[in-house]
Amino acid sequence: MNILVLGAGQLARMMSLAGAPLNIGVLSYDVGSGQLLHPLTRHVFDQTLVQAIADSDAITAEFEHIPDEVLSQCEASGKFYPGKQAVKVGGDRALEKALLEQAGVPCAAYQLITERAHLDLAIAVLGFPLVIKTCQAGYDGKGQWRLYAEADVATVWAQVAAFLAADALHSIIAERMVPFQREVSVIGVRDRLGNIAIYPVTENEHVNGVLTLSLAKAIEGEIHQQAVEAFSRLASALDYIGVMAIEFFDVDGQLIVNEIAPRVHNSGHWTQQGTLCCQFENHLRAVAGLPLGSTEAIGPSAMINVLGQASIPAEVLSVANVTSHWYGKACRPGRKMGHINMVAGSEALLGEKLLALSAFLPGESYPGVAQRGGELMRE
Ligand code: AMP
Repeated sequence: MNILVLGAGQLARMMSLAGAPLNIGVLSYDVGSGQLLHPLTRHVFDQTLVQAIADSDAITAEFEHIPDEVLSQCEASGKFYPGKQAVKVGGDRALEKALLEQAGVPCAAYQLITERAHLDLAIAVLGFPLVIKTCQAGYDGKGQWRLYAEADVATVWAQVAAFLAADALHSIIAERMVPFQREVSVIGVRDRLGNIAIYPVTENEHVNGVLTLSLAKAIEGEIHQQAVEAFSRLASALDYIGVMAIEFFDVDGQLIVNEIAPRVHNSGHWTQQGTLCCQFENHLRAVAGLPLGSTEAIGPSAMINVLGQASIPAEVLSVANVTSHWYGKACRPGRKMGHINMVAGSEALLGEKLLALSAFLPGESYPGVAQRGGELMRE
């Protein structure tokens, strides 16, 4: 079985690793260079996209920012899952908000902005503080402005206007700043028959909009239920096939959607060690028309992102049930280079592991590890 993935980054690489035991071969289409390559070995094949589409049994995507004509070409093959609409919705906050409203899933109140008068309207309707975001270009907190008070409006608008002027294709959204207690996400998968399987809800920590740490531990039943409900509604609305991630703000026990990712997601990397069928395998199973695997957790799990570090101290691997996953990328400041996964027999033992790891992972590069470890041990 051959699966073509639009994108040639770490998510395609991890799909390739998960596919091998199932005898599923993964080929990547590097959207930037137009090359077809092996996502692991980086071997470039002398092939066109048309040939790769014809040779594939199924097509999927590892990111959202894919040219429209490529999406249409894949869609026309009838083998593209989750399909053009889902990928476009994931890559455009305005489309995403419209879908959330249509599906009846709560999200932060917002206003679309294309001119200064719209910002004034947003301030009047939503009030301060506001988070202003690009609809199409932003990820990992990029392309965002915070607006706290009237005094800052002119400065922030100058930056937003410059952004809009530089690229006529982009639009802007203003959201009410949500006073959340924590950020959580759910990773779910839907197969071609409409069966759904959901991984345990994950607690996520971000620094400057970038995920640093995920924890999959016992979560309140009502939170899990809300996440399942949101997944089911959105997956049905899109007739979705594959893995989808939904990121939420938890506001006093009510989940409000921040973002949808129509693909495997960084906050689901813990499933590689924490479950018997990780998100990458389940995504391949779904798009290949195979039965889904178990999404049940083996035990409390955690994932630590390695950001802008070319290596980690070898001692990390001396902690039991801890492993690392590297993406084979050149090191740049802040870049996602790899991650560290761990699974434990109990939350207290997971806390012990995090504390043990914090001795080798400096807090400035790996924020939250010692703190979350201590909390888990005290809980
Ligand atoms: P995003 O790129 O939309 O995921 O935003 C990156 C991070 O900014 C999120 O993980 C939140 O920590 C924060 N953020 C985004 N939107 C809001 C909002 N409406 N209210 C509060 N915080 C937000």
